[in-house]
Amino acid sequence: MNANLTGTDLSAYNVIDGETVDTEVREPLFSPATGQVIGSSPRSSSDDVDRAVRSARRAFEAGWRTTTPGERAERLLALADLIEDNVEELSRLEAIDAGKPLHHARTYEVGQAVDELRFFAGAARTMEGRAVGEYAANHTSMVRRDPIGVAAQITPWNYPFLMAIWKIGPALATGNTVVLKPAETTPISTFRLAELAATVLPKGVFNVVCGAGDTGEALVGHDDVGIVSVTGSPLTGKRVAAVASEQLKRVHLELGGNAPVIVFDDADLDQAIEQIAGNSFYNAGQDCTAATRILVSPKVHDALVNGLSAKARALSMGDIFDDSTDLGPVNSERQRDRIEGFFERLPAHAEIVVGGGRPALDGSWFEATVVDNVAQDDEIVRHEVFGPVVTVQVFTTEAEALAKANDSTYGLTASVWTSNVERAMRFARDLRYGCVWVNAHSLHTVEMPHGGFRQSGYGRDLSVYSLEDYTELKHVMIHLGE
Ligand code: ADP
Repeated sequence: MNANLTGTDLSAYNVIDGETVDTEVREPLFSPATGQVIGSSPRSSSDDVDRAVRSARRAFEAGWRTTTPGERAERLLALADLIEDNVEELSRLEAIDAGKPLHHARTYEVGQAVDELRFFAGAARTMEGRAVGEYAANHTSMVRRDPIGVAAQITPWNYPFLMAIWKIGPALATGNTVVLKPAETTPISTFRLAELAATVLPKGVFNVVCGAGDTGEALVGHDDVGIVSVTGSPLTGKRVAAVASEQLKRVHLELGGNAPVIVFDDADLDQAIEQIAGNSFYNAGQDCTAATRILVSPKVHDALVNGLSAKARALSMGDIFDDSTDLGPVNSERQRDRIEGFFERLPAHAEIVVGGGRPALDGSWFEATVVDNVAQDDEIVRHEVFGPVVTVQVFTTEAEALAKANDSTYGLTASVWTSNVERAMRFARDLRYGCVWVNAHSLHTVEMPHGGFRQSGYGRDLSVYSLEDYTELKHVMIHLGE
């Protein structure tokens, strides 16, 4: 049964210079779980964007730039405490707006964000550099890491709250100020985050402008923005890079993936099935690191397909507020139409073992799906489906498995499942992906970098590397007067 959202009124606003402000044009927001209108959100104009960027610039010059790392950490830790105090409300907003089971939003997303923000706060205080010294006689050289200025940050709709934290954490910790645009379908939790932040951060340090691609593009193209960071589709990333290139702004892109998952016959199969199923269908598969393209040894093919299919069949859908719900809807009708397109065009040789359609629920739901017998050139293998869908292919040799795994325009994440440590190490070396898991998939830790090779983008979220991405490297050389 669907959740009952009748009477729900959740609306987002812009937060500029510490104030909650409205815009002339607003758009309705829909619940993915029921299809009902749940509120509305601003469609910000380029004037709204300009106001936000000017506020961020003022806040940068007025002092955020020169606060000590310790002072910035104190503010970010205060924000983390506020998020922790409001986890239940924020998780509920996220569940309704993005269409997630509430217990997932609470445990793995908003709850996790608290710890991640605390990491960024601490990491700001431990930046490293090369030794200061006299590399030219009679001159001392040192390297500074200066903040860039105003960071324009654009987030996607799959993990609205978590992605906002991944973006603002390193930017604010290193002394930049921020204008963030959430995705047009999921602005609510980000708006609430900005309202909370306004109580602990100086005015203008963190601004939010809501809107769609045109608002995002006005932000990317603004003269006073120094770095642009986007998590989104490759098409959006390319457009953003093109617009940002006009002023040679620094660009930081996380653009999706299509992760190969290579399962050898010496793997612990029960463990592999448990982990792959848990991961592929989490967040209805709307995750750029999701285990999507399974390459399996023929000996364990049937057992793997049967195991995954049983897991897919057992997932319960319906009330997003019920802790027994495992699978939520996809984010929008548009997204479900996109997923269904892959199935309308599916070649005859592919076999849908389980799923492939809509359950009898209002809202934008799609069943957990396993597609067997696909070929390397099939559209459903080559493109990111971004839904609760896994494909299965057989390989015969290690070399074939590696070649097929690497044969992708994406390069974000991959996993290999084997008990042979030498083979595991060979794949860790040879897979051309920003993250390789061995006997695991999609485990993230804030201390380690997240980002891709090839058309998955460039720049790294999380870890100290992300903090470095938000700084300019400056060499200072001082004549010693001797
Ligand atoms: P999807 O196609 O799955 O909705 P997008 O890449 O379009 O994913 O969306 C990711 C984020 O990028 C959203 O916040 C969206 O509004 C924003 N966006 C889309 N187009 C542009 C653009 N041309 N410039 C800046 N931001 C954009």
